[in-house]
Amino acid sequence: MSVFATELETALQAVRQAATVCRAVQASISTDSLDKKDNSPVTVADFASQALICRTLQQAFPNDPVIGEEGAEELKTDSGADFLARIVSECAAVGVTASGEEVCDWIDRGGLQEYRPRFWTLDPIDGTKGFLRKEQYAISLALIIDGQIQIGILGCPNMPLDSANPDGPRGILAWAVKGQGSFVQPLDEPQAATSRINVTSTAASQDARFCESVESGHSSHDWSGKIAADLGITREPFRIDSQCKYLAVAMGDADIYLRLPTRKGYQEKIWDHAGGILVVEEAGGTVTDIHGNAPEFNHGATLSKNEGMVVTNGQFHKNVVDAVQNNASA
Ligand code: AMP
Ligand code: MG
Repeated sequence: MSVFATELETALQAVRQAATVCRAVQASISTDSLDKKDNSPVTVADFASQALICRTLQQAFPNDPVIGEEGAEELKTDSGADFLARIVSECAAVGVTASGEEVCDWIDRGGLQEYRPRFWTLDPIDGTKGFLRKEQYAISLALIIDGQIQIGILGCPNMPLDSANPDGPRGILAWAVKGQGSFVQPLDEPQAATSRINVTSTAASQDARFCESVESGHSSHDWSGKIAADLGITREPFRIDSQCKYLAVAMGDADIYLRLPTRKGYQEKIWDHAGGILVVEEAGGTVTDIHGNAPEFNHGATLSKNEGMVVTNGQFHKNVVDAVQNNASA
C-alpha cells in the first residue's frame, strides 16, 4: 500500500460528501436570491462542508488538527439558530444525522490557527462569489507535515470534464500525493478509472494562456495586463473563481495562473493555496510567490512570509517572475 493511502482515501470520500451538499445548495439558489444578493446559501453550504469534512477527519484521525476557514461562534448565537438548523438539515440529507451542537463541534475542530507538525488545512468553499454566481468554486483540502504538503485535493463540482465541451458533464475531483503524481476522476464516480494529469508543454511565454481571479479585489488585473504585454502574451486571460485556476494549470487548460496582491500587507491564507499547489507541482508545474520564493506552510493560517502567487507549467517560470517584478508599481 502506498504512503498516505488511508489519508487519501478518507479525505477524498470526505470531499465527495461535502461536494454533494454544495451542489444541492447551489442548485437551490434562485434568481430571486441572486437579485437580492442573498449570501445565505453559501453560508449554509460552507459550514455544512466544513462540518462534514472535519467529522470524517476526526473519526479517522482523531489527533489531527485542522486549520480551516470557518468557526462556529456565530452559529451558536440566537441570530445563528436558523442557519444552524439549515446546516443540520443539509448534513442529514447526505445521511449524517446530528444535533446542532455536534455540528458546531465539528466545525470548531477546523478552527486551529497555529502551526503544528502535522495538520490538515481546509477551505470548505473556495470561491464563494463563484458559488453564488453558479460558476466555479472548489473544496480544497490538504495534509501538511513538517511544513510540506503531502496530500492536496481539489473538489471542483462545476469544472467541465472535457474543457473542449464546457456544456457537457461537470465535476472533477483532483488530487496529488507528494512524489506520486496528480490524478483526476469524475467527482460523482468514485469507481471510475482515474487519469493522470500533466501541465502543458508550452515552451515560449508569448504562446501562454493565463488565468486569474474574476475578482479584481483579489488579484490585480491592471498589473497582470502589463505582465502579459511584457511577456508578449496576446491571448485573452480567462477568469474563474477559486482554486479551479490551479486545476486549470495542472490539467493543461492554462499555462500560467497569476495572483497579484492588490494591496501591501495582505497575507494569503494557506487554505486558498495548499490543495492547489500540490496538484500543480505533481502535474509538473512550478509554484512560487511573486518574488520567486517557495510558499512556506509553517507559519500558521497565513503565508506570512510570501506575497501573491505565480503558477506556471514550469517552462518559463523565471521569466514570469521577472515580468511580475519589472512591472510592479512602487
Ligand atoms: P478567487 O476565487 O481566486 O478570487 O479567490 C478567493 C479567495 O480570495 C477567498 O477564499 C479569500 O480568502 C481570498 N481573498 C480575500 N480577500 C483577498 C485579497 N484582498 N487578496 C487576495 N485574496 C483575497
Ligand atoms: Mg478561499
